Amino acid sequence: MVTIEEALKILTDQQVKLKTEIRNLSECLGFSLSKDIVASFDMPSFDNSAMDGYALSGISKEYIIVGEVAAGDESRVTLKEGEAARIFTGAKVPENTTAVMMQEKTKTTGNKLFLDQEPRDGQSIRKRGEELKKGQVVFEKGYTITPAGIGMIGGLGLDKVEVFKKPVINLITTGNELVLPGKEKQEGQIYESNSFALASACEKYGFKCIDKKQIEDDFKAIKAGIKESLEHTDVLILSGGISVGDYDFVKQALEENGVEELFYKVFQKPGKPLYFGRKGDKFVFALPGNPASSLSCFYIYVLPLLYKLSGSSKTGLERYTFSASHDFENRSDRPSFLKVKIENNEVEILDGQGSSMIRSMALGNALAFLDAETSVKKGDLIICYLIS
Ligand code: AMP
Ligand code: MG
Repeated sequence: MVTIEEALKILTDQQVKLKTEIRNLSECLGFSLSKDIVASFDMPSFDNSAMDGYALSGISKEYIIVGEVAAGDESRVTLKEGEAARIFTGAKVPENTTAVMMQEKTKTTGNKLFLDQEPRDGQSIRKRGEELKKGQVVFEKGYTITPAGIGMIGGLGLDKVEVFKKPVINLITTGNELVLPGKEKQEGQIYESNSFALASACEKYGFKCIDKKQIEDDFKAIKAGIKESLEHTDVLILSGGISVGDYDFVKQALEENGVEELFYKVFQKPGKPLYFGRKGDKFVFALPGNPASSLSCFYIYVLPLLYKLSGSSKTGLERYTFSASHDFENRSDRPSFLKVKIENNEVEILDGQGSSMIRSMALGNALAFLDAETSVKKGDLIICYLIS
């Protein structure tokens, strides 16, 4: 048995080999950069107008309009003091422009322009290089690309990006009692829901589970399933069969497949029977079968490894502290991850904390960490890991 800290340290200390690939810009979302992106030019690359209005030369309330520049025009207009040019958002400002005045604050009569107020020097001009200077690091290696990141990279003119490959994930669920949703279930059977929850958790964080197997509590079948999955996976996630029951064959089946145990059992609630192992470059998690346990373990342990294997600088769920909205007694003798809902900056610890109860997790938006046998008073700060 290890502590949560020890388990996380074992995970994050793993040496991993990362592979890179070149991807099209439009297919980079959620991938992490394998090298820094450096600006190859100033951004913006020319002084341009932030408004539809008038480019003005000198500070005054009256100007003579001498020309026009639209976005994309190569501005050939040069202004003299007291002159103005009609200009549109994004257009390069003419030589000698002091400021741009938005058109809503102007009046014209013929070629005369009148302002409601004098412009401020530099007003509404986006200066060359004000966002980025040529040679500046825009994003560092390990940056995980967001939609805005795609916009930025595209703005730098790059249509291809070198990123780290993402790990290939396989999922195996075990249990004689499991029936797929949509099928009829007999007395004593339950619906197999973990593979759906786990695969969608992978998906939510940008990872794909490419193969799913459901196997009975049969040692030989589990051993064969693990062998087969390990041949074409980077991360194998098993659900169920890792506890101490007579039908829990997963640990032995992993051993017999040459998987080295890195930890087994974590002093926590839920998710005590969590197993983590490695065979060469391949990693294995065996998660307890209880639905809330398996998903909690995914969030707290599997996700950090997936980020690491994808070269991301992210280390796991986002973590914040919020104050408790009510008193609470954690009676567990183990440190606990509780299903909570953060609303208006306060944490409500939800009803339905059982390891099998996933509805509270579905209605909540975070896991709160509480030490064993602690009492929380309304207003106390609690560490929360956001899950939505
Ligand atoms: P186990 O870890 O195999 O002992 O299972 C613990 C509990 O989780 C049992 O009540 C199982 O029926 C349930 N369980 C196991 N696997 C799944 C699954 N894939 N989907 C839903 N519940 C499961
Ligand atoms: Mg089982």
